[in-house]
Amino acid sequence: MQQSLITIAYIAASALFILSLGGLSQQETARRGNLYGILGMVIALIATAAGMQLGGLPVLAAALIPGLVIGAILASRVQMTSMPELVAILHSFVGLAAVLVGFATYLGPQPQMTASEHQLHIAEIFIGVCIGSVTFTGSVIAFLKLRGSIGGKPFMLPGRHLINIVMLLITVGLGVAFFMSPEPANGQWPLLIATIVTGILGVHFIMAIGGADMPVVVSMLNSYSGWAAAAAGFMLSNDLLIITGALVGSSGAILSYIMCKGMNRSFVSVMLGGFGTEGGTVSTAAAEHGEVHSIESAGAADLLQNARKIIIVPGYGLAVAQAQHSLAEVCKLLKDKGVDIKFAIHPVAGRLPGHMNVLLAEANIPYDIVFEMDEINDQFKDTDVAWVIGANDIVNPSALDDPGSPIAGMPVLHVWESRDVIVMKRSMASGYAGVDNPLFYKDNTLMLFGDAKKVVDEILTAMRS
Ligand code: NDP
Repeated sequence: MQQSLITIAYIAASALFILSLGGLSQQETARRGNLYGILGMVIALIATAAGMQLGGLPVLAAALIPGLVIGAILASRVQMTSMPELVAILHSFVGLAAVLVGFATYLGPQPQMTASEHQLHIAEIFIGVCIGSVTFTGSVIAFLKLRGSIGGKPFMLPGRHLINIVMLLITVGLGVAFFMSPEPANGQWPLLIATIVTGILGVHFIMAIGGADMPVVVSMLNSYSGWAAAAAGFMLSNDLLIITGALVGSSGAILSYIMCKGMNRSFVSVMLGGFGTEGGTVSTAAAEHGEVHSIESAGAADLLQNARKIIIVPGYGLAVAQAQHSLAEVCKLLKDKGVDIKFAIHPVAGRLPGHMNVLLAEANIPYDIVFEMDEINDQFKDTDVAWVIGANDIVNPSALDDPGSPIAGMPVLHVWESRDVIVMKRSMASGYAGVDNPLFYKDNTLMLFGDAKKVVDEILTAMRS
């Protein structure tokens, strides 16, 4: 009876996770999607605890309660701009968990199994540990890169593809040795060495990926963490973990595909690495591109108030400055004056998928004026002012007209086609991909230097007075 109740609870939790993913796919339903996810997780936790023997409950509580407290504190304190780092480090925990579950399952007491079941079980352990190890070390490197603790520049060893292939072949060889080992006392060594080799592979893979490809890496590691969880589910014979892992794995893979499409990159070329260089350098392109025209906040306020149509392009800097609430007020004033205002969202704007949508939703900016890049890109031609706030790479024309640019081929927002472009940022520094931006030197571009929040507030004051 109890087992059937647990099965029903697992089915309900799985259904809620699916509804959650469906809800999260659209801004209007995202909150509901989140609630479904929370509810599914609560049901899953209760069902798991109910299925345990009494003696195991203190162990579960000892792991769960500190985890809940630490998780709640971290999640409530984290800044939106640090979310990708948090996501990356959480992925690493899933990878590490899969490795630990694999070793515990292998070295612990073995359940009664037929010979073929045992072989399958051994294969699950080996694959789960290897995926977990790649996910663990790869996510730690992604965390350090996103945090800026190590540079975004691709680290490319000579013959790196060969090195990867050799490591993969060694892993396969160790897998065969593991499979052939009759006892854990013999099998633990190939398993341990394979963990180390795949761990090095994870480091090497992610180190070679340049700054501009980090969005794909984040979603790809998300996918890996799902498969690592699914593998742990197989090892523990836990259906819910298998389903949840598969949901995360496949949705992460779909997201990676969408991100690749958004950046006009193939998945294989992302994996081969080297796209984009070091972030945060100061542009040296002035001599090459010409003069910079700047404007003050009051002048920008005039230009905006006298415009008929404005497209706002938000980027990472808007999130850093937390200028979204002041911006919402400016939009309201302009709308009251009859100005047509729209927002253009690039698929990799900010530092995590959907970053800008979350930011704008936080400031209650209506969804019906927020457009994806493909929906709005051809509207810049008949726009009076394109207002770029804390964005850089996503409005860089060299992606289109400089085949030698490290971001050549990446689709960007065509802001320069507007009559005037206001670019708001603090300096001439480059964006995440570390690439100079010729937009800043165009005749119709006006640079408005300063912290986005401070400058938007000044524009608001100028408009009100
Ligand atoms: P960028 O990083 O290209 O540019 C952001 C700009 O904001 C910087 O040039 C910076 O210039 C400016 N800025 C920073 N702080 C402030 C502030 N307080 N006030 C005003 N401006 C500020 O961001 P984009 O959004 O244009 O592009 C996203 C980039 O991030 C892409 O390269 C993408 O590949 C990458 N990425 C995206 C991820 C995703 O999932 N979306 C994940 C990881 C990376 P200055 O210093 O002069 O102020």
